[in-house]
Amino acid sequence: MAEVVIFPQLEIPDTIAAGPGPGNTDPRVLQRFASAGMADHMQADVLRGMVECKLMLREIMGTRNIHTFGVAGTGWSGLDCLFSAVMPGDTVVVFNNGTFSGIDGLTLRMKAATADELAASPLDPKPASVTVVQVPHGQSVTGDVVQTALAQHKPKWAVMTHWETGSGRINDLQGFSDACLAHGAMGLVDAVSSLGVEDFRIDDYPGVAGWASCPQKGICCLPLTYAPVSFTDAYIQNLRQTGCRTFVHHPILEARHWGIIDGKDAEKGTYHRTHSAYAVAAFHEALRITLQQTVAGRAKSYAFHEAALRDAVTAAGCNVTSNMTSLVVLNLPDSLKGREMELVQACRARGFGIWPTLSEPVQVRIGILNLLNERAITDIVTRFVGQMNDMGADVDMGPISKRLEQHYRTAVAAE
Ligand SMILES: *Cc1c(COP(=O)(O)O)cnc(C)c1O
Repeated sequence: MAEVVIFPQLEIPDTIAAGPGPGNTDPRVLQRFASAGMADHMQADVLRGMVECKLMLREIMGTRNIHTFGVAGTGWSGLDCLFSAVMPGDTVVVFNNGTFSGIDGLTLRMKAATADELAASPLDPKPASVTVVQVPHGQSVTGDVVQTALAQHKPKWAVMTHWETGSGRINDLQGFSDACLAHGAMGLVDAVSSLGVEDFRIDDYPGVAGWASCPQKGICCLPLTYAPVSFTDAYIQNLRQTGCRTFVHHPILEARHWGIIDGKDAEKGTYHRTHSAYAVAAFHEALRITLQQTVAGRAKSYAFHEAALRDAVTAAGCNVTSNMTSLVVLNLPDSLKGREMELVQACRARGFGIWPTLSEPVQVRIGILNLLNERAITDIVTRFVGQMNDMGADVDMGPISKRLEQHYRTAVAAE
């Protein structure tokens, strides 16, 4: 008989999650995760917790959409649910300015492809009904670009990533919403990176019919929980007419377990699929924390700490090309050009989890998700500049530390 191998217990070290995501989970969230009792998915407190999560999500997203709930999993789970209404042959215009909008585009090409188009290229279909508008890496999608494309193609669906985490660029949500209204397209937005980081209310963008986010970036709730989604009545109305080819991610069916039945709030949910009491308790706590800190308060804090990090790495000779507030995307100084991967890998080997870009060109990405304090930002800068110097950059950390101190002293004085 073959010997059965039982591996040692899996130990995973604590690292500094200074990348685009996942962000640092709040200890309160982990504590709730570990303290929840074993209870099944129809137990009264689990169902009550899900209804409370739904109500808190509406507050955080700034919406009266009845169909606002969480999809079990990560960002792509929520996006799969969001894009489920896109049917084979549907006309779609999608804007691509980086890694994630590129994958959104792939998802849409898979969903809008006819059977023949999918069979012709199963992993990378090119359906005639889908137009991918390419915007160069490092640039934002502007309202003008959206207006022009929608005027030309008049699609049923228009799709944009709000914050493109691949290049660190903020795209024009107002311009997108306006163009969707002007040209009769139903807008779908990937808000995976922006929810819980920027201060915005989705109901202020009436051209957008559906939204999806994730648990582990702005909401700080990695222990595999829920990707927030929200759909307008118009989206649901359309879905009721066309149907869609998924059971588990069907927006109308999935909503039932959150107590959204026949388009109305029910007292409690009905079975759709098993939910974990641990996940519900953790997600519930993450939403409570967001409401306690307020979306506006968080947004202000991100802007303030990102400015400190941006200033410090710029002083170290790097060139920042992003404009998101949870992340800086930068080019190294000329003396280190071409050594981005080496630098990132050396940092990661020391438990300092920064990232490269995942599509061309190669740049370095440093994130500050839930690392919003002077000590954490100073630690990030010290480690990053230290690694640059280990590779021969010869940056004097003294003046940079002074700038950081100055940034934080000014803030204290202003309070
Ligand atoms: C992170 C991210 C995703 C993917 O989310 P997962 O949680 O990895 O599934 C999609 N879109 C954007 C804009 C992202 O930042």
